[in-house]
Amino acid sequence: MTDLTDLGVAAIRDGVRAGTFTAREVAEGFIANVAAAKTLNAFLVETPEHALAAADAADAARAAGEAPKPLAGVPIGMKDLFCTKGVPATAASHILEGFTPPYESTVSGNLWNAGAGMLGKLNMDQFAMGSSNETSAFGNVISPWRRSDGGNAAMAPGGSSGGSSAAIAARLCPAATGTDTGGSIRQPAAFTGISGIKPTYGRCSRWGVIAFSSSLDQAGPMARDVRDCAIMLEAMSGFDAKDATSLDLPVPAWEAGLSSNLKGKRIGIPKEYRVDDMPAEIEALWQQGIDWLKDAGAEIVEVSLPHTKYALPAYYIIAPAEASSNLARYDGVRYGLRDLPEGANLQDMYAATRADGFGDEVKRRIMIGTYVLSAGFYDAYFTQASKIRTLIARDFEQAWATCDLLLTPTAPSAAFALGEKSADPIAMYLNDVFTVPSSLAGLPAMSVPGGLDGQGLPLGLQIIGKPLDEQGVLNAGLALEQRAGFVARAERWW
Ligand code: GLN
Repeated sequence: MTDLTDLGVAAIRDGVRAGTFTAREVAEGFIANVAAAKTLNAFLVETPEHALAAADAADAARAAGEAPKPLAGVPIGMKDLFCTKGVPATAASHILEGFTPPYESTVSGNLWNAGAGMLGKLNMDQFAMGSSNETSAFGNVISPWRRSDGGNAAMAPGGSSGGSSAAIAARLCPAATGTDTGGSIRQPAAFTGISGIKPTYGRCSRWGVIAFSSSLDQAGPMARDVRDCAIMLEAMSGFDAKDATSLDLPVPAWEAGLSSNLKGKRIGIPKEYRVDDMPAEIEALWQQGIDWLKDAGAEIVEVSLPHTKYALPAYYIIAPAEASSNLARYDGVRYGLRDLPEGANLQDMYAATRADGFGDEVKRRIMIGTYVLSAGFYDAYFTQASKIRTLIARDFEQAWATCDLLLTPTAPSAAFALGEKSADPIAMYLNDVFTVPSSLAGLPAMSVPGGLDGQGLPLGLQIIGKPLDEQGVLNAGLALEQRAGFVARAERWW
């Protein structure tokens, strides 16, 4: 019999509908895999009872002859940035330890309404700040992938959605939620040989998602292939009056609209993304991606996004600025941790709680953010960064005059080993060079696996689309996926 945990979202959905296997069998298979993979540290909280209850409901509905829900029988992982009613949510920070949200985020609620079940809450970079999952207060997530040199160094699963990426790659769940502020869905997807899409800003409600940088934060799915991402995204998206930036638009039938025929599509290759020191393997994969898209019928055009080199510095001003404001609410009064030293006054409590509760990277961001928003420096930093953001958005608008989509590598390198970059924040920030510009412009963007590097580690290709053109992004992703034929998987050692 096939191992049900080798199946993706569509195959599970279809098999449960057809009665080939039960939703309970699927849930039990993934629950067993989660329980056997503690070494990877991908889950912060396991909720087998939630997954089993959803599975039993799916099986009962089928037995009663009811019309199946879109995700009936599909158990998923939930990034710990999403509040789920009655289940602890910490954003992987000590400061939120002990916090159990009394409410459900809109996105997770949408997924449960679609019939999905929850296997647990996934580890991540603390408050989604990081690119390697090393800023979690609850330990590193270890990627299931290893370099082929036999050194067995523990590899980073990418970040901030590193629990999500590792769990999917290790077959602990067929799909998971992620969030992407500057690349946190796409970069971990690239590092672990899976797919992930960040939709247009506003497609998925931010309500109930612990805020990092509100003008950039966007939820999206991570899964093993493009179709599974489309199915998940349909369930997650939709207008929500509780999020003032939610787009009041119908959710397209992205799965039904999938087509890998790119005839008539023009794909732009932004010349500024040929950064210095880009490994030859990434360059070669990019060229391979160009050839694959040509083969799918697309026309390739060179485009220019002249302000690209300013995107990273602008992002690392805007995101910390918004974070410093969003994180002001964690002061020991209402959520999670409270440190109240003997004889302390209110001010002491705030200081003690924040000093103890936030990790180093979070403190670094709060300090940068507070500095760039301070009276004497606001114009020099925050205003300037906001202007650059507008210019970057304009670069993309101008590019759309000559192309429909853009193709770039997802990250400038394959996964690095844990500890390799953690001492150097700038080196870590540079990893976001290809993902940050589309975040600043609010555009839909996706990573799909393209191949392996010389060390046997996955490399990702990124498709960026016009606002609201998730369909175009998914379709180009599908065209790449079909040609890449990526079937490599991490050999089980855990
Ligand atoms: N790595 C980026 C950062 O550290 C992006 C994080 C994200 O998208 N949440 O800010």
